[in-house]
Amino acid sequence: MGTGKGQVSTSPGGHAAVISLEGLGLTYPGPPPVTALHPCDLRVEKGDFVTIVGPSGSGKSTLLNVLGLLDTPTCGAYLLNGLDTATASDGRRAALRGREIGFVFQAFHLLPHRTAQENVELAMVYRRTPRRDRRTRAAEVLARVGLAHRAHAVPTQLSGGERQRVAVARALVGEPALLLCDEPTGNLDSETTASILDLLDRLHGDGMTILVITHDAGVAARGRRTLTIRDGVLSETTKTAATVPC
Ligand code: ADP
Ligand code: MG
Repeated sequence: MGTGKGQVSTSPGGHAAVISLEGLGLTYPGPPPVTALHPCDLRVEKGDFVTIVGPSGSGKSTLLNVLGLLDTPTCGAYLLNGLDTATASDGRRAALRGREIGFVFQAFHLLPHRTAQENVELAMVYRRTPRRDRRTRAAEVLARVGLAHRAHAVPTQLSGGERQRVAVARALVGEPALLLCDEPTGNLDSETTASILDLLDRLHGDGMTILVITHDAGVAARGRRTLTIRDGVLSETTKTAATVPC
């Protein structure tokens, strides 16, 4: 891990946001150049449940790739948990990604010949978690997503919803600061979609910071905050129900 702590952006309360974007944008060089993401500002606080909705071609994947440290912006700053990601080396960005972000994708991306338990355990191998701890920890997160009884099944023996639960368990096992979900219900029927959204709700209730990118307005409505992206322009929609004081 690097020696410098990097730049830290704090709120008036003194804590760093999980995500802080300042004038962040991305233009693909082309030719011709395409501005897929116009400069935008965004703060996501610890414990937020944010959804970002937009039609095809609006810039969702571009934004997800930048937020997930899979691509670098062409302008602006991205602080993840207070750490400046733009000036970090590729190795440092990869380390940050592994430590701070849990990914959930539409297509599950489970290893087909491994059990649910093994899929989750494997996520800990490169973290050098001792073997015995890996086993205990994987069992704990599988229980947390309601899959303790399916721990020894391989993906083909699991339903789509169960596979996505395994993927969520795998994303959670490293205790990331951020759960980043790309169309997490895109491959699921409406009933299973509801159960995965309920699971995200529950994780949010436990204090997890969640950001979901989707083209589905129904999924987007489940966020405590919903942002819209259109032609690469990110804007926040104010929710009247969310303005109730706590
Ligand atoms: P979405 O995920 O919402 O469908 P994308 O982020 O994939 O949108 O794309 C946003 C815009 O950027 C689109 O106009 C798309 O054609 C363009 N785009 C995406 N990737 C590239 C690339 N590598 N080079 C050039 N243009 C791209
Ligand atoms: Mg996309």
